Order: sequence, then structure tokens, then C-alpha cells
Amino acid sequence: MKVKNRDELIIQLNKVYEDAECELNFNSTFELLVAVILSAQCTDKRVNIVTSELFKKYNTPKDFANMAQSELEGYIHSCGFFRNKAKNIISCAKDIVVRFGGVVPSGKAELKSLAGVGEKTANVVLATAFKTPAIAVDTHVFRVSRRLGIARGKNPKQVQESLEKNVDRALWSKTHYALVLHGRYVCKARKPECEKCEFNNLCEYYNKKVR
Ligand code: SF4
Repeated sequence: MKVKNRDELIIQLNKVYEDAECELNFNSTFELLVAVILSAQCTDKRVNIVTSELFKKYNTPKDFANMAQSELEGYIHSCGFFRNKAKNIISCAKDIVVRFGGVVPSGKAELKSLAGVGEKTANVVLATAFKTPAIAVDTHVFRVSRRLGIARGKNPKQVQESLEKNVDRALWSKTHYALVLHGRYVCKARKPECEKCEFNNLCEYYNKKVR
């Protein structure tokens, strides 16, 4: 893709999804962290249903550090991989209490040292809670950025590096949310709605398909 077209697509994405933001509900950085861990292989909608009950009773690292795994599993079983997620959330909460004085750390390396927190989760927390530029590559970002042609790569790490190179750092977080929303509502995995897509004039996938 020509650099001019790529840059134009990034500008358009940020314009169309100007107000894009995280669709998970949370009232603190720690709640966000728990919600992001729960969102792996699960929809934000489902996570919001689950956390609306869970956070009424438990919402601090200390609460979760003292929780029995079976009790947490009872709340989150509909999120998928609930045993692992419960184990990780409790370990993560214990780490935050013991190693970070009960405060979610704001550095990427420290975040990634917590149980259940990988590159993607750390980047979502950095971008959303700490307003640090970050591009988290989830399934939507991976698919949509490659279809559009604004990133190349065979795996999330390569796509993240490609986006970090191609997108102005000040737009990293916004572009991430724009790609998530576009993937969720228009550029769907099985049936992308190309005819109504506002970016089809420049989209690499669409232009290859129609020509
Ligand atoms: S034109 Fe189609 S493939 Fe390209 S971004 Fe839009 S929906 Fe996705």
C-alpha cells in the first residue's frame, strides 16, 4: 500500500471513530485490569454483565487477594476459561498487594510481571487508565489492520510492531479503539460489511476482491 493511502486511512479511521473508547465498564484501574483479563476469548458485553455483579461486592486488590478461587469462579464462569482466569486474577491481586502496595503499577514491565497480564492486557490498561500511548493487538485489531493494509505481520507481535511504525505515536491508543470498534461492528470476521464500509475506497482487501 502506498504510504499516502495508508496515512489517509489512519486519518479517516480516527475521524470516523473520534469518540472511540474502551467498552468495558470500570470505576478504577484495578477494576479495568480485572475486566480486561476476563475479556480474553469473551465479549465485552458479557464481561460487563459479569462485573456488574462482581464489583458490587469485590472491587479492590485486597478483596480479590482474600477471595476463595471457587467463589470467584462462581461469578465468572460464563466468561470462558474461568478456572484459569480466577486463578490469575487472585494471583494478580496478591501481587499488587504484596509487591506494589495495593496500587496497580503504571509501567509496562511491572504490569506484565503480574499473573495473567500479557502484552495485550498491559497495553489496554496503559492506554485506557494511564493515557500512555499503546496499541493492543486483539483479534479485531489483527484482522482489520491487515485487511485495510495499514499493517503487515503474521502474528500479533509483528502487527503491533508494524502499527507502531506506521501510526503516529499520539494516535496509537485512539487507532487501537477505532480498529476494535470497526472490527466489532463492520469489518466482522466471517462477513465483513464492505459495501457499507466507509474505508472501502482505500481498503486493500476490498480492492483486491472487487477487481
Ligand atoms: S472494506 Fe471490507 S474488508 Fe475493508 S475494512 Fe471495510 S469491511 Fe473490512
